[in-house]
Amino acid sequence: MADKIFRVNMTDLTASVEEVPAAWAAHGGRGLTSTIVAAEVLPTCHPLGPNNKIVFAPGLLSGTIAANSGRLSIGAKSPLTGTIKESNAGGTASALLARAGCKALIIEGQPKEDKWYSLALTPDGVMINEETELIGKGNFAVVEALATRLEGKPGIITIGQAGEMRMSAANVSIKDPDGGLRSSGRGGLGAVLGSKKVKFITIDPKDGKVVIAKPDAFKEANRVFAKALVDHPVSQALGQYGTNVLVNIINESGGLPTRNFTQGQFEGHDSISGETMHDTIEQRGGRVKHNCHPGCVIQCSQVFNDAKGKKMTSGFEYESIWAMGADCCVDDLDKIAEADRLMDDIGVDTIETSVAMGVAMQAGVLSFGDGAGVCRILKEEVAKGTGLGRIIGNGAGSVGRAYGVTRVPVVKNQAIPAYDPRAIKGIGITYATSTQGADHTMGYTIATNILNVGGKVDPLTKEGQVELSRNLQIATAAIDSTGMCLFIAFAALDDEKCLPALIDLINARYDLSLTADDVVNLGKYILKTERAFNTAAGFTAMDDRLPEFFYNEKLPPHNVVFDFTGEEIDTFWDF
Ligand code: SF4
Repeated sequence: MADKIFRVNMTDLTASVEEVPAAWAAHGGRGLTSTIVAAEVLPTCHPLGPNNKIVFAPGLLSGTIAANSGRLSIGAKSPLTGTIKESNAGGTASALLARAGCKALIIEGQPKEDKWYSLALTPDGVMINEETELIGKGNFAVVEALATRLEGKPGIITIGQAGEMRMSAANVSIKDPDGGLRSSGRGGLGAVLGSKKVKFITIDPKDGKVVIAKPDAFKEANRVFAKALVDHPVSQALGQYGTNVLVNIINESGGLPTRNFTQGQFEGHDSISGETMHDTIEQRGGRVKHNCHPGCVIQCSQVFNDAKGKKMTSGFEYESIWAMGADCCVDDLDKIAEADRLMDDIGVDTIETSVAMGVAMQAGVLSFGDGAGVCRILKEEVAKGTGLGRIIGNGAGSVGRAYGVTRVPVVKNQAIPAYDPRAIKGIGITYATSTQGADHTMGYTIATNILNVGGKVDPLTKEGQVELSRNLQIATAAIDSTGMCLFIAFAALDDEKCLPALIDLINARYDLSLTADDVVNLGKYILKTERAFNTAAGFTAMDDRLPEFFYNEKLPPHNVVFDFTGEEIDTFWDF
């Protein structure tokens, strides 16, 4: 089945299936969402208005047997940052969209009437249906209700109450193989879907299959690629302890942001560590290993049960545990798991919302360490859209402005994740220069700064950090186009067979002859396309800066500040 563009216009409630324009044909995932947003969205438009569009694109390898290829990219102009945005997540939707012959789904316009809708995508096109029953419900209720309403196992993309209320921290949730949820968390894309009045999208590919141009070459490339992933020691650690293996490692480095970014170490780190989580999961009969989409061979996800053995949450990630844990000084893994489940259900980004809670603690709205208070605010305020709930649901910057707090860890209004840029300077360059606001996944220098993958660059010195961040941001933009999970990057940096095998997979899928240089050029093209959109939206180099307190307040235990000049940061774009 030839891939097509599926387009839905919510203003006149029509849908069409279109040929792929030549300029889009070579792109997938982030490369495609950013290309479409740059081509079709007015950079100065209001992110929640009718001129914004939200684009869903499977990666170039999604829907195939290629290991770890099931990430779905979602793009739009972000209501949180005002920049272009791409956020990708696992779940089953990416593979199912690819099998339905959908290269990209574009949703544009805005309904004239105050009604809600759902979309049902099949290879024949998209049906737009009015929805009443599930409006106001959380994500888990949507997934549960659709399991009985619909036949088979369709893919589900949904928003919770936060998306309906167009909160800037609202995520887009994607059903995983077991009925759990994965989140396109960053940048408020759930609010954009909510602004289109779309509560959920179902995907049924019928008997659709992805066609491989050279099946034997594809199978052989996948064998080499999967082996490189499985053999890498970081993959193995991720499979055993999840991403939360990082709590003790980053704490040891002195770069674990604690108490709203006032310390680099958390005294309760052992209680929330990956090792403690692993033992707790085993004792309670959960699952230490779990995959967010079929075909993942690393399996960093897990199922975390409560003390009675009932599932509390899955995909319990380091960044969520850090944000609720160290940043808010909550040292109780069960409370953090409860908050994680609530945030997944309401449909808010766990990083943005938890960092917002940390700023609220700074402001005295609640006390540091008050995990029960966090859960109460999520249930009683954010889910119900009270005044306080909306302030928190609009992110860390919103809380800082509402309460007059000056220590607000955001770049381009997006919350800084789990690595303090004073003690791990490479990641500070990524936060500052990313086209999407502070986001560790855009150029994960932690691999080289802390984990010694792909070499070693001292996290406490400035030397080599701009180049490291630049190379990783270029590589990441390309990887985000393939549908691959970012955790393939560890093997790609260290194992000489991994990256060539990935390129062989793309070549065998499409009968191409791409080289490593082509991949680098793709990454550069994506970054420049995104930056050009931001420039047209009004952003300048002055926005590529960290908040003032990172330059003025020394971070213990190393007592360091972020000391890059503006000119030094700006050399990032010299390529
Ligand atoms: S390694 Fe983790 S995030 Fe990546 S595909 Fe597997 S389960 Fe999903």
